[in-house]
Amino acid sequence: MPRKPRHSIIIGHTVAKVINKKSTKISTSKPAGGKKQLLDTTLKAIKTHYHLSVDKSSARAIRGKLVKKVKKSVELKKQQQKYLKTQPNPIDSLRYEFACKNLTLSHALESTKENKQHKIQFGNYLIDTWFMSPYPPDFYTQSKFFICEFCFTSMKTASMAKRHSNKCFVKCPPGDEIYRQGKISIFEVDGHKNKMYCLNLCLLTKLFLDHKTLFYDVEPFLFYIMTETDQNGCHFVGYFSKEKKSTQNFNVSCILILPTYQRKGYGQYLIDFSYLLTRYENKIGTPEKPLSALGLLGYQKYWNYTILKHLSLKTSGKHESINDISIKTGMTPDDIIATLQRNNLLVFNNGQYGLHINKQEIKQKIANIVSKKQIKIEPRKLKWTPYTDVSILDIMLL
Ligand SMILES: [Zn+2]
Repeated sequence: MPRKPRHSIIIGHTVAKVINKKSTKISTSKPAGGKKQLLDTTLKAIKTHYHLSVDKSSARAIRGKLVKKVKKSVELKKQQQKYLKTQPNPIDSLRYEFACKNLTLSHALESTKENKQHKIQFGNYLIDTWFMSPYPPDFYTQSKFFICEFCFTSMKTASMAKRHSNKCFVKCPPGDEIYRQGKISIFEVDGHKNKMYCLNLCLLTKLFLDHKTLFYDVEPFLFYIMTETDQNGCHFVGYFSKEKKSTQNFNVSCILILPTYQRKGYGQYLIDFSYLLTRYENKIGTPEKPLSALGLLGYQKYWNYTILKHLSLKTSGKHESINDISIKTGMTPDDIIATLQRNNLLVFNNGQYGLHINKQEIKQKIANIVSKKQIKIEPRKLKWTPYTDVSILDIMLL
């Protein structure tokens, strides 16, 4: 039985079999001997290249096509090089653009990624995501993927999610419950002791927070997880992370309330809780910058309310410095001064700054801030020992 030809090439109207294809280069430069010489060279090249016998007209057509093709590709390459010379390096321009906005290059590159609308199935909620998070790329090939609401394990398909829920016995965060108020609980989770849980939480966070940069370095952080409890378990509402040791007085590194729980006063509640911990530690604190747009709005609302409330309770005739307010609220002097300025309460008189307090105005401002949904933290319900890296063994050896 004859073997099938490996290649076939159409020359004119005949189909010729290629016996042995060699990598012979066909010259596109004009030979010295004029048109006849050119045609002979083409024929010779084709013969050597394909081991074929072809007539002169076919050879002329083939050579014409080849020359045209080569010329086109050379021209295209030249145009590309010319274009690239006139264009700035895209990475450099991004670096410049985002340096102006005090953002990092990694963030810049991240935000340029295709931002398609995706959904996650999270417990009973189907949630629209806002940003891309580095989940496996094939997760994004479908309209939604699945995340366990208790351990944050991510799954690609509904059947995988069902199998997981049958064998996942986690019903609350893996740390200590340090606060309980009605159905709300807050757990402290150590990034060092529960690395996988915290990594999965960071991945989830990135779906809703563009500024989130913490991914793999969870060990130096504590995570305060807020949940709503019912008969099925402690359902994740939101959280904030905090450096175990902050040299810059940061009391919150990253803060998130799931979209399904937003507009219920939980954001303010969690911010208030972060300042409660700071006051409990006899420290002052501020959130890590830059804040997201939503984060900044939330914090400004909290700072306005806290300072105005503090001033409304102030008894007349009693002098109080910025540092005094700082100690009582846990806020940094910078945040206090910015808040006073924002509310036109700081006046410059006789070379000194002073407070301009009109109690009626302040009451009106507070009434504008306070919403019906505001839930108040009850400090006495906090059962907590601040983090220390000194172990019991170290204390015993002292
Ligand atoms: Zn799970």
